[in-house]
Amino acid sequence: MISKKEKELKTLENEVLACKKCVLCKKRIQAVVGQGSLKAKIMFVGEAPGAKEDATGIPFCGRSGKFLDELLESVGIDREKVYICNIVKCRPPENRDPSEKEIKACSRFIEKQIELFSPKVICPLGRLSMKFVMDRSGLSEDVDVIGKIHGHIFKGKNTIIPFYHPAVALYNPNMREVLKKDFKILKKYAD
Ligand code: URA
Ligand code: SF4
Repeated sequence: MISKKEKELKTLENEVLACKKCVLCKKRIQAVVGQGSLKAKIMFVGEAPGAKEDATGIPFCGRSGKFLDELLESVGIDREKVYICNIVKCRPPENRDPSEKEIKACSRFIEKQIELFSPKVICPLGRLSMKFVMDRSGLSEDVDVIGKIHGHIFKGKNTIIPFYHPAVALYNPNMREVLKKDFKILKKYAD
C-alpha cells in the first residue's frame, strides 16, 4: 500500500515538474526534484541542476555526481539510502549561480522536502546551499566562509554539516582528500 508520505512526495514531485514560478522554467528541459529513499537519514542539498541533470531529471548525475558517488562509496554509504536534491530545481542558463529571487521562489519545495524526509542530518554542498540551509535552520550567526566551516556539525532547527561542493575537487586532488576526510563524519548518521 502506498503510504501518506509517498503520496505527499508524489504530489510535490508533480508540482515541481509543472512549476513556472520563476524565469528558470523558460530554458529548462525539465525540473529536477530529487532522488533517494524516504527512509533516508542523510539529505544532501546541492545548488541547482547542471546540463546533464537537466537532460535526465536526475540530481548529481554528471561529473560532480560521479565524485559524490565516489565520496559515498569511500565511507560505505549507498546512494540509494540517502536523499539528494538541490535548493533550486531548474537549471540556470550557462550554469550561473541562481539569484536570490529564484532561490526564494523555489524555497517552498525544499522546505516541503525537509519536512517530508525529516533527515537526521542535512548536508549542504557548496556555499550557496550552506547559507540557505543554515539561515533557514536558525544558524545565521554561524554562517562563515565554507573554507572555515566545512565538515563541522551545527545544531539548529536541524543538524547541519556543510561540505565543499564536489565540483571543486574535479581538478584539485587536494580538495578530493579534504572532502574524503570530511565525509567520514557521515558514517555515524547513515543508519
Ligand atoms: N551541481 C549541483 O549543485 N547539483 C546538481 O544536481 C548537479 C551539479
Ligand atoms: Fe519553479 Fe523552482 Fe523551477 Fe523556478 S526553479 S520554475 S521556482 S521549480
